[in-house]
Amino acid sequence: MRSRIRVEGIVQGVGFRPFVHGLAVRYGLSGTVGNDGFGVFIEVEGPAGAVSALVEAVSRNAPALAAVDRVSVESVPPTGPRGFRIVPSMIGGAPRAHVSPDAATCDDCLAELFDPADRRYRYPFVNCTNCGPRFTIITAVPYDRAATTMRAFSMCTACAAEYRDPRDRRFHAQPVCCPACGPTLVLHASDGAMIAGDPVSEAAALLRAGSILAVKGLGGHHLAVDATDEDAVAALRARKHRGDKAFAVMAPDLAAVRELCELDGEASGVVAALTGARRPIVLLPRRAGSPIAVSVAPGNRDLGVLLPYTPLHHLLARELGRPFVLTSGNLSGEPIAHRDEDARRLAADAFLTHDRPIHAGLDDSVVRIFRDTEVPVRRARGHAPAPIALPWAFPRPVLACGAQLKSTFCLATGSHAFVSQHLGDLENYATMQAFAGGVAHFRRLFGIEPEVVAYDLHPEYLSTKYALTLDGVQPIGVQHHHAHIASCLADNGEPGPVVGVALDGTGYGTDGTIWGGELLVADLVGFERAGHLEPVPMPGGVTAIRQPWRMAAAFLHSAYGAENFDDLDVVRRNQDRWPAVAALVANGPAELVTSSAGRLFDAVSALLGIRDTITYDGQAAVELEQRADPGVRGGYPVAVAGTVIRGTDLIRAVVGDLRRGEASEVIAARFHHGLAEAVVTATTRVAAANGLEVAALSGGVFCNTLLLGAVVDGLRRHGLRVLLHRRVPCNDGGISLGQAVVAGARDRAAR
Ligand code: ZN
Ligand code: ZN
Ligand code: FE
Repeated sequence: MRSRIRVEGIVQGVGFRPFVHGLAVRYGLSGTVGNDGFGVFIEVEGPAGAVSALVEAVSRNAPALAAVDRVSVESVPPTGPRGFRIVPSMIGGAPRAHVSPDAATCDDCLAELFDPADRRYRYPFVNCTNCGPRFTIITAVPYDRAATTMRAFSMCTACAAEYRDPRDRRFHAQPVCCPACGPTLVLHASDGAMIAGDPVSEAAALLRAGSILAVKGLGGHHLAVDATDEDAVAALRARKHRGDKAFAVMAPDLAAVRELCELDGEASGVVAALTGARRPIVLLPRRAGSPIAVSVAPGNRDLGVLLPYTPLHHLLARELGRPFVLTSGNLSGEPIAHRDEDARRLAADAFLTHDRPIHAGLDDSVVRIFRDTEVPVRRARGHAPAPIALPWAFPRPVLACGAQLKSTFCLATGSHAFVSQHLGDLENYATMQAFAGGVAHFRRLFGIEPEVVAYDLHPEYLSTKYALTLDGVQPIGVQHHHAHIASCLADNGEPGPVVGVALDGTGYGTDGTIWGGELLVADLVGFERAGHLEPVPMPGGVTAIRQPWRMAAAFLHSAYGAENFDDLDVVRRNQDRWPAVAALVANGPAELVTSSAGRLFDAVSALLGIRDTITYDGQAAVELEQRADPGVRGGYPVAVAGTVIRGTDLIRAVVGDLRRGEASEVIAARFHHGLAEAVVTATTRVAAANGLEVAALSGGVFCNTLLLGAVVDGLRRHGLRVLLHRRVPCNDGGISLGQAVVAGARDRAAR
């Protein structure tokens, strides 16, 4: 018999055709395999048992980097046995094949890299069908060498032989190359003058001497310095205009990570995250007495560490033999510099670079480990542009434009959502360019022509303004916290209804005030605001986000009214500017109030003298979490009036403890547990009143694992099932997915 088989999913650029070729040979089948815009097409002819064995194996034993979505089979008339071969790609029709994310260097390639007898010994671009660049070098689909930035390099005889040999690990590996035919690594000074000698050895020597080195990686240029050199790290901070936000550190191997961070207890999930093909930055508790310079992560108990993920990183890490800072090469807030001409503007002393162009800029992904499970904080390299499969379909293609900070967009069609990589904050021309360019690139790659555009209700978000300029699409506005909860539902493949607990920074509410501590009875289509934190004034609007002491003033005046609290340090420290802000609290515009949980954290952080002003988003809350004594279990009592949580109760309790001279570590812990308990009380009330048994947790505040753990435990104690994020971040990086599924659900409901 002869069958025509179609395989959809991430099946291009992952060694799928050689895999099928191997199966056909094993089962003695003749026929063909090839790529087209939809994925992989196969025709096989032979005994029925052998054909079905191949079909079975195609989905069961797919290569490591493949993700098979769908296999369909139809019978066709036999044409007679003529061997099995791989046929050229067929171009045409709207592309629907999925593009593989970039993957860390595999063990086989790593062994070659450090084998003096191998022809790719110390060659920084070694790769194979199981690893290497993908999304970052792909310019179009179907995925063939001509559709990548490798097209300028023609294979030498040896590489071409590997590429053509179905038994070789490099069979049809599009980026295959070697020192004779592939890209070349160079090291040059900031004035462009070449630095003689082996580029890797010389680069390591420069790092050892305290220099700032630009390194061209997979998705862009990074800046590197010796992570144990205080002066070098401080110099990098100054040149990058970076405040206190932590730098990530690349460690040569797992043993080195163990010297820097505490891996015990939650080790298996940590090791899986650190060593997997996605190779994200993993946030881990730093080990006391580690040699990492203080200014790598000031005021932070955690350290973001990652292992080498390209051959170049492996070479450099081994040559240097110590951890080094590896941070996106950009000005703060701008996207990572991925073009060579943008990299020239980087404030580096030397550049370790090469001539393989990067097509798509891509930051490193960041994850946390919560109870031995990987939780995404920033979704980029290793994840994008893999689709998120959903158990429902979008009637029409959707473009969702996301929020403002931690921007992503999402294109959705069929039952797939393609969430873009993290793009940064949409605050400047460069990020807005990256956003618009990214949308265009995704539309081409996946052949999606959006007919619906989803956007945040905030009229000032640049993503909203962008959405409303698009012609010929139906606009659908989605409330920010509804999008958060919907993103958690989509993440879990559930339609709701649930009690959505959105603990967040700020988002535009449907009543024109600023929301951010919301209990929503929600499904994908809509929501009802069933509870929230008690609103307080937000003196100065967005200025209060940058200046947490203002939120301390707002909460103190709300909690105490005319009572005297002048004895508090936060008042003394901000004496000169306090009266003006107190006046704003008393007489500010009525709609300038907020129910934000993030702002409550800010207020407590300022009260404890941790942060009066911040240099990066969420800093006051992050440092408050880190301050909390993990040994303290009890929390402050908080009144929940119906389903409204009185944050001012927490403020009064904090002030009481402060006046008694209680340690800030204890106060911070009691605050977390008190808030968690109040959230649990209000959530269970909403659940009971609405006959719901499931809660979905989302919003940036849930990046706080101390709070998350306490809320999860509390809700489970009350018998609720709890949905958490696994595939997209709980912060605004997940908003675009939430908007997309809401728009899709409304579209379905309207039919
Ligand atoms: Zn490999
Ligand atoms: Zn070659
Ligand atoms: Fe948000």
